[in-house]
Amino acid sequence: MKHAVMDLLVCPLCKSALHLKSFAGDSNWTQEGVLECDRGDRFPIVEGIPVLIEPHLRQDVLGGEEDRFWSKYPSHRPMGSAAPAVEQVRSPKKSAAEVWGYQWQYFHELWKDEASEEQFYRWIQPLRPEDLKGQLILDAGCGTGRHVWFSAKHARTVIGIDLSFATRVAERLSHDLPNAHIVQADIYRLPFRRAVFDRLFCLGVVHHLPDPKGAYFSYPEYVKKGGSVTIWVYGRENNWFAACALEVARSVVTRRLPLPILKTLSIIPASVLRLVIAFIYAPLNHVAPALAKKLPYNTFFMLFHRLSFRNLWSMVFDQLNAPIAHYYRGALMEEWLKSSGLARTQLSHTNDMSWTLHGIKE
Ligand SMILES: [Zn+2]
Repeated sequence: MKHAVMDLLVCPLCKSALHLKSFAGDSNWTQEGVLECDRGDRFPIVEGIPVLIEPHLRQDVLGGEEDRFWSKYPSHRPMGSAAPAVEQVRSPKKSAAEVWGYQWQYFHELWKDEASEEQFYRWIQPLRPEDLKGQLILDAGCGTGRHVWFSAKHARTVIGIDLSFATRVAERLSHDLPNAHIVQADIYRLPFRRAVFDRLFCLGVVHHLPDPKGAYFSYPEYVKKGGSVTIWVYGRENNWFAACALEVARSVVTRRLPLPILKTLSIIPASVLRLVIAFIYAPLNHVAPALAKKLPYNTFFMLFHRLSFRNLWSMVFDQLNAPIAHYYRGALMEEWLKSSGLARTQLSHTNDMSWTLHGIKE
């Protein structure tokens, strides 16, 4: 944990200030330590990542690692300061954290190629690189931190949070960026004060949450006046295959398979997709673009065409393993935007099959 992030963090339970006790690291960096709030809630810093998650969920997410950590520093072990666990959403969160943690620790490379960056800017439209310049940005649900990396090129400071062990990868990949910070945290209990961020992104995450609308509606409170909230979610229109066929495959087969087996099996559909794009979509886009536009998923697949096979494979695996996946109609997204409290809202039909919701806090 880079110490510069301390100015921004608060206790996720009581929102009071956090105080750092560093056990390993140097004057600017803590590898292992404890963050304690004014009220006495304590949170470990494990492998350079502050784990600002309420105790019950933290035990679910960290497993045996939590105990090993506190046995190393027994006098700092938290006692009786825990807030009650949010039981009704605990289980889906745990299973999501396991799935994404597994996925992103295996697909641990940083895809910072031009196509991935283009995809990032499609997801955050209408924002452009110049809109990120000098800004304080929160990437809620950062995974391996690809968007943190793209944002850090322009932002003053960017913080990526995620519930899963993907934060370990994100931390390693953004370690050398002085303005990028990774925190393990729960989207429903963010460890930040109100009205601090200039930009908040949540890309490809809301549709996987147990309470998607609740998460989205909580975001504006963390953004300053004049700042923006931008989320990207799966759409239902032009997306029958994912919303129907894939959802059946997930509930009947793929969610029941052990993750390592599913990961290996995903190579098959990923290879088929690669061939279909290379031998049907790409040539047709070259010789008859007007006709190609009529193919399902054409815009999206032509972006896939420029991604590495491993990146494509990770996306197919991601589609097959999702514990929860919601697909939204544009009309409902319009309603969300209207009741979000945000102004100058914009709904974009990203890649003709998903939605970007953007709005400004006034
Ligand atoms: Zn506290």
